[in-house]
Parts: sequence; structure tokens; C-alpha cells
Amino acid sequence: MLTIRLQGHEHFYPLCDVVRLLTGVIPKVEDGEIHVDIEETAGIVSCLSDRKAMTYIEDGFAELKEGRSRECDCEGDRTSEGLPVSREIKRQLYFLLCDALAKELPWGALTGIRPTQVAREVSCEEDLSQIYGVRPDKAKLAFLTKVGEDEVLKESEPDSLHIYIGIPFCPSRCSYCSFVAQEAPRKTGLLPSYVDAVLKEIDLVLPKIDQKIETLYIGGGTPTVLDEELFEKFINGVFSHDAFRNLREVTVEAGRADTITEKKLQTLRKAGITRICINPQTLCDATLTRIGRHHSAADFIRAYTMARSMGFSVINTDLIAGLPGESAEEFCDSLKQIIDLEPENITVHSLSKKRRSDLSREEIVKFEAEELSKMETMLSFAFSALTEAGYAPYYLYKQKDTLGGHENVGYQKGDTSCIYNVAMMGDQRSVLSFGAGGMSKRVFHDDASDAGQVRVERCSCIKDAIQYIQNVESMAGKKISFFES
Ligand code: SF4
Repeated sequence: MLTIRLQGHEHFYPLCDVVRLLTGVIPKVEDGEIHVDIEETAGIVSCLSDRKAMTYIEDGFAELKEGRSRECDCEGDRTSEGLPVSREIKRQLYFLLCDALAKELPWGALTGIRPTQVAREVSCEEDLSQIYGVRPDKAKLAFLTKVGEDEVLKESEPDSLHIYIGIPFCPSRCSYCSFVAQEAPRKTGLLPSYVDAVLKEIDLVLPKIDQKIETLYIGGGTPTVLDEELFEKFINGVFSHDAFRNLREVTVEAGRADTITEKKLQTLRKAGITRICINPQTLCDATLTRIGRHHSAADFIRAYTMARSMGFSVINTDLIAGLPGESAEEFCDSLKQIIDLEPENITVHSLSKKRRSDLSREEIVKFEAEELSKMETMLSFAFSALTEAGYAPYYLYKQKDTLGGHENVGYQKGDTSCIYNVAMMGDQRSVLSFGAGGMSKRVFHDDASDAGQVRVERCSCIKDAIQYIQNVESMAGKKISFFES
């Protein structure tokens, strides 16, 4: 058992992130200590005072000859080097455990979800590697992506508002999914009421909003899971609002190929929409079956070709690296096929091993040990193949439980970045979400720190679709108050 005793601070969760990623074990927090169920018996102390942050090995890790403690001077909530103390504490524990466990992470001590924000605070890639232990290839990716993100943000008004509308239903549940999405076939009776509720929420809230709306993103789940008639009612209802006409960008996720029909694409085109996402995740049929997606690679190609022929000018396709049982060759082959189709955006996700998914803890651990090096091969192939094909990374985020602590990266070609993705993932613009489970947020640029860190407030919405339908008026009221305050 590894025990980490905290003294003078309560930054449990950043430290737990470091431990979980380095050991693969989910730590427990009890009585001011973090307990990690590993074979070795060891104790570490993480202390913080006004003047000093210090992490040291109290007992165990006997064979460790060097790096027994890490420390630095502090001034208030910053170190003398200017880092936030919470990040310094995490950094110290990371390097100490790296020495003790003879292990490193690709993103080093950057266990948070937005490494490009930290890249903004340092002057070069080398600093990212030296200060945080970020591997040089990831430091390069962070810097390239930061440039892409900055280009998008430069063209976006800081006070602009970005709208998300969520349809949290899918035709079947993918085995790796941890999202609140529910299987639509079991909920068919619910879908019309859900659409009515979302349209009602929009009707109630939108007239009360003053901010200029820049983008609209309709996501899920899978919005195209609605049948043709209901989908048309939904899209027409949304675009009956003047506020949604002439936006800089409108994106609709038509995620699963088995939900896409010519009539639904016509509905989108009639509403003036030219940007959609069709997400195969892999073009290997055996993997698609294994992960519970009821469509084939051929279904994806059919849907993609149809969308292209109907005038959708920006198509995003998502792939996932590290899907259960998929070889590096199969992933690379899928990516090559996708690149040959020339979509404007390609997003490469790293598989997230969330506990809420259908994968068991045993499967996750076994699968992690087996799959990590394959994952490395897949992601480095993706970066090389995409950049050689003229794509550039433009947004990047990490999820908490991603295999190996790897990242998700959006690549774009020819200035086709999705503004919403950058605004939303970077916590740089305010977002108003409609629908069950959506998170609205307000970003306050006036309160930005010297390092450019903005203040963000969040407002959640009920996740359960039935409760959302029953409480839509109070949800609308909550969002109106949130944006008025
Ligand atoms: S399509 Fe996406 S949201 Fe739906 S079940 Fe699969 S992973 Fe989850």
C-alpha cells in the first residue's frame, strides 16, 4: 500500500490523478491521506506552507537512491518560479513517483485536460518538457495545437456566446461509452416528448439572452437517431429562431452511419447546414461489431459519399485509437482510408476507459497493459500521416481516464476548424446548453489572471431525460438566471 499524507493543503484530486495514471490503480482518499493499493509498502508526505512546498519519501521505496525529496520556495499561491502551488505540488509528486516506480507518462505532470493552456504559459516546447516532464513529441503537438487554437480564437469575439443542443440518445450503446446517452429503440415513446421539451426550453431561454451568438452545435448522443419526421420537426423548430440564422458556424453531429438517411440530410441542407460529423470510429467491421455499433464500414462510406454529393462542405470524421481488440494495423488502415476520402476535419480520440462503460475493471487493467504500446504506435502514425496529408492540429484535450493519459486531437485542413470545439474545450468562450445533461458556462475575461487564465462559472442541467422533460421550465429558469446574474 502506498500512502500519501497531505500536510498544510487539501489538493487531493490533482495528486490522485498523478497516482492513478502512473500506477493504474484508483486511489482512495481517507482522513487526509491518499491510499493506493499497490504491492509496495511506502509512504510519501506532501506538505505546503506559506514559504515552501515539499514532497518527500517517508518510508519504503528503499532501492531509490536519488530524488528522495522535491521542494521549492513559495510566495502566497505561487511558487517563486511563478507556478500555481497546486500545480507545483502535483509536479513534485509526479517526479518523485517517476523515480520510485521507474515510469513516465507521455504528458508528464500535465494530467489536466487542457495541456495547451499550460503551453501558453511557457516560452518553448523544451520548457514544457523540462518543467513538466512532457515527452518531446507531445510538447511539439501542444505547441502546434496552441497555434491552431489561437488562430481560431483571434477571429472569435471574446464575449460571444456558443450554443449547444443535446439529443442524448443513440441507436445502440457502444461498449466503451460512458456518456449519458440512452438507447433510442428502448425509448421511442420518449423521443417526441424530449424534442418538445428541448424546443420549449429554447423558446423560453433564447429571448432572454443578450449576448451575440457565434456558433451552434447540435450534438448527442446521436441527433440523427430521431426518425425522419421528428428530425425535421426538431431542426425546423430550432431554426424557426432568427437568432440561429446567419451564425458564423452551425455543426450537426450525424454520428452513426446507421441513422443517416437522404431525407434527414435534405432536412439539414434545407436549413442551410453545411457542416456535419459522421463518425465511424474505425473502418474495421470486426471492431465495429465488437464495440456494439450496428453499422459497417460500407455504411459509413455510403453515408459520407451521400453527404458529400448533397453539398455538405465541411465533414468531420472521428476515429478512436485503442479500441478493444483492434490492432495498430487496423487503426492505421482505417485512418488511411479516411484520409483518402478527404474530409475537412479528422478527430483522433484516445480510448477513454471510464468506469461507467460496459468494460469491467479487470478488462480495463488487462487491456491497458496489452494496449499501451499499440496506442503509442497508432497516435504517432496518426500525427505523421495527417500532417503529411496537409492536416494541422487545431484543438486538443485530454479526458481523465484516457488509456495511458493520451489525448484527443482535432485536425483540420484548409482553414476549416470548428470554432465551437475550440471555444468549448478551451474554456475560452461562454456556452449555453439546451437539453438533458448539458453544461452551460460563462467565461469572464475581465477577471483573467496575468497568465491569461479566465474565470469560468458553470451551470448544470438534469441528466435524466424523463426528469428533464418534467422539469424543463425550471431548467430554463435556472439558465436564464445564470446568464442574467
Ligand atoms: S455513439 Fe457515442 S454517445 Fe452514442 S453510445 Fe456510441 S459512444 Fe456513446
